[in-house]
Amino acid sequence: MAKGRIPFAKWQPIRGRSLKRNKPRRVTVHIAVTDSPDIYGPGKGPGGTYAHCYNPVSGSLLQHQELDRKTYADLDGNGSTISVEHQGRPGDRMSANQIDNMARLFALAVTEYGVPNRIATWNNTSGLAWHRLGCKGNFGAFSKSDRTTWSGSQTGQRWTTVYGKTCPTDNFIHQIPEIYRRAQRYIGGGASGGTTERDWLSMASKEDVTKAVWEALTRPVAIGGATKAYVGDDDVPYYYLTRYAAAAEFGGRRRHAEVMATLAGQNAAIEALSRGSVDTATIVQAVKDAVQDAVGSLDQGSPDPQ
Ligand SMILES: [Zn+2]
Repeated sequence: MAKGRIPFAKWQPIRGRSLKRNKPRRVTVHIAVTDSPDIYGPGKGPGGTYAHCYNPVSGSLLQHQELDRKTYADLDGNGSTISVEHQGRPGDRMSANQIDNMARLFALAVTEYGVPNRIATWNNTSGLAWHRLGCKGNFGAFSKSDRTTWSGSQTGQRWTTVYGKTCPTDNFIHQIPEIYRRAQRYIGGGASGGTTERDWLSMASKEDVTKAVWEALTRPVAIGGATKAYVGDDDVPYYYLTRYAAAAEFGGRRRHAEVMATLAGQNAAIEALSRGSVDTATIVQAVKDAVQDAVGSLDQGSPDPQ
């Protein structure tokens, strides 16, 4: 892959683009205020402006400039920004496709270009940022807990000369944490290079899911107290504890609320897995943590597991 190029984007270079260096400290989200799926074609935008990327409602991210070269969408921020224009109009929310494209791009910016892995704040605009952080205007009373009120007035940044520019609009700003959360998966998995764990559950076969559940059930769990004395070992597979708890006589089960809670947790985890709402690693870890917590100091007595 050529330098500065995004492995998963469609390369659509702009004519006469800058050769000056870009040292990104942030990725900046914009809204193009248009329904067009491609605003540049081979040319620049109005006034010679252009962003590194255009993110359409559906389909691949379009790349118009190398990430290590300067673009012209962020005024004083140019040269330290990876800028991304988005298809959409005020009132729109980013599509799932736009969020995923942004998450993958931000992950790449973090892992390959040294952009800090954080959401930009009113007092530090590095990381995952948005245009309004460099715009002045009336965005309501400043509140540290409301990103839509943060602007150039607090950051001191000047990323436009237009007063009151709302870009990328409140709805997009509300979705910034979604982008960030999704990006962590790509960062964690080292998935910026194109082969990603994107939608693992949507691609997994029934066999894959069964295997993942089985893997969770057979993880060794450390045990202590009377349970350890009874079993005669330092750990047991998770499914064994499940069976052990289920086989306990009624009074025993009532005394061991933790075990019942663990069973409930397991059921919830498997249910979440079957619905595809959480990734497998998270479920495995959650089950493991919950069980570890529950049995660490548990005196389980000596029921006879069947
Ligand atoms: Zn903008």
